[in-house]
Amino acid sequence: MRWKDQIKSLAPYQPGKSKDEVKRQYGLEEIIKLASNENPFGCSKKVSEVMSKETGYFALYPDGYATNLRECVAEHVGVTKDQLIFGNGSDELILIIARALLRPGFNTVMATPTFPQYKHNAIIEGAEIREIPLVDGHHDLDQMLAVIDEKTNVVWVCSPNNPTGTYIPKKKLESFLARVPKETLVVLDEAYFEYVVADDYYNSVELVEQYSNLIVLRTFSKIYGLASLRVGYGFASKEIIRALEPVREPFNVNSFAQLAAIEALGDQEYVENCRTLNHQGLEQFYNFCKEHNLSYMPSQGNFILIDFKTDGNEVFQFLLERGYIVRSGNALGFPTSVRVTVGSKEQNAGIIEKMSQYMQVKAH
Ligand SMILES: *Cc1c(COP(=O)(O)O)cnc(C)c1O
Repeated sequence: MRWKDQIKSLAPYQPGKSKDEVKRQYGLEEIIKLASNENPFGCSKKVSEVMSKETGYFALYPDGYATNLRECVAEHVGVTKDQLIFGNGSDELILIIARALLRPGFNTVMATPTFPQYKHNAIIEGAEIREIPLVDGHHDLDQMLAVIDEKTNVVWVCSPNNPTGTYIPKKKLESFLARVPKETLVVLDEAYFEYVVADDYYNSVELVEQYSNLIVLRTFSKIYGLASLRVGYGFASKEIIRALEPVREPFNVNSFAQLAAIEALGDQEYVENCRTLNHQGLEQFYNFCKEHNLSYMPSQGNFILIDFKTDGNEVFQFLLERGYIVRSGNALGFPTSVRVTVGSKEQNAGIIEKMSQYMQVKAH
């Protein structure tokens, strides 16, 4: 068969070990997973209450226009219904954008390290990839601008950035957008938008009004706690949405996801509460780092990258054997760090105790 050459170099997604496997292997009673930036508190109770209502509809296709969800999101975000596109997770929106715009002979610009799906999809489409290293964990927007040319179809900006948790301040993002050519689509991935507490964060809805070449991606997988249902959305000018829509599969967001997302969106009190608890959780980790003189990235997300100045895999393994699954920085472009998802207060205290043990063992 004549496979695309470029996919031969790609590895299939490697799922981590299952909780049961880890339990058996290390003789543990309980495993706490702080590896995928999932909400440790789950989703709003309102979601579980409504889900049983959907059981009669297994045989029917979902609403391909996500009519009700569309109305709710339009009102919540403050855009019109024709400014929205829905995806099977924002992962799928990344795929749709890549599929619509990237191809051999054109290029795409992104930071590194950042969320890996931008590059992954760009490789599949055969576009040239221009990666600009982060500077102290931050997007180097000037350098990204410097490599944009008349063949640049998409530039990806992740804010807050995964895996660093850093965000782009309002002024910097505005001056960047003002200088990107109008023929280049800017994708602003705001998967962690709802966690942000920084004062100088921008208003991406206003930016979309101002820039006709900007699309913003958000998701129900993170603060809303619906990762398993797969639903994300993008908002942009209606011209961008109109251009992308034919690339979307007709029934890409299932009925449960649509129903759950509506309920989740309706419980903003829950979201606010999660944001506050996350902020307090981050403080637990900052205090730990300060106490042990470890450098870390101040985060606007629900995760923190901590530099142990040793092999990240070793820290990962130490924590794994003691019942905590994190992400080794090795796979994320920060080989001496680990990325920890902020858990509940108790979970944070638990993993901090194990990380302190690690520091003691290391010191002797
Ligand atoms: C988790 C994450 C996504 C993907 O979210 P889904 O909606 O679950 O596909 C996208 N971008 C970033 C930066 C993420 O961290």
